[in-house]
Amino acid sequence: MIQEEFWKELCKEIQGKARLVAVSKTKPAADILALYELGQRDFGENYVQELTEKATSLPSDILWHFIGHLQRNKVKYIAPFVHLIHGVDSFPLLLEINKQAAKNNRVIDVLMQMHIADEETKFGMDERDIIEFLQYYEAQRNSLSHVRIRGLMGMATATEDPTKIHSEFIRMRQFFMNLKKSEFLAKSYFDTCSMGMSGDYQIALDAGSTMLRIGSLLFGSR
Ligand SMILES: *Cc1c(COP(=O)(O)O)cnc(C)c1O
Repeated sequence: MIQEEFWKELCKEIQGKARLVAVSKTKPAADILALYELGQRDFGENYVQELTEKATSLPSDILWHFIGHLQRNKVKYIAPFVHLIHGVDSFPLLLEINKQAAKNNRVIDVLMQMHIADEETKFGMDERDIIEFLQYYEAQRNSLSHVRIRGLMGMATATEDPTKIHSEFIRMRQFFMNLKKSEFLAKSYFDTCSMGMSGDYQIALDAGSTMLRIGSLLFGSR
């Protein structure tokens, strides 16, 4: 059961500020279609097989976001159609995305996953890793014409403390703004700060998110 009223209110609230990615992982195609029929076009999945199956059976103008941890050997399955890959956290992964995008005659948009939470288990790069990643990128830029770095994605600590979540998002937003000013990424397309899920999207909006990834509030709990 999709939460139609919540979707409508949220779209109104974020209009002109942030884009909504409806996170449909584990949810049936019928639920995706119901939201699609209301006008939602961006959907997020975090398993490659589930994503490719859904993409085959659902309307071709859906913009599919890959938001999970992507293994290098699976890039080829999503390269023909994926709209944005949120979780790039190593340079070898970027090289593979570039290679598979070239094979498909595409330019694939990606976000660098930034580690902002306390938890050890979450994937992502810290500030220093990202600078190093961008130095590799800069050095090989001419051979990386099939990927476009659009911004950052991050997940805050799972905590009840809104102050802590807010400070993590602010840190990410500030790093994003600094990168935007740097020589690496002073590009108009470096415009995406993907932060905020069901439990913390208000805080993320407040901290300057440009893209929300929301699952359970739209589709019910998993
Ligand atoms: C599942 C998931 C979400 C959405 O989570 P909800 O709490 O259901 O809104 C957002 N981002 C990522 C990376 C996810 O894996």
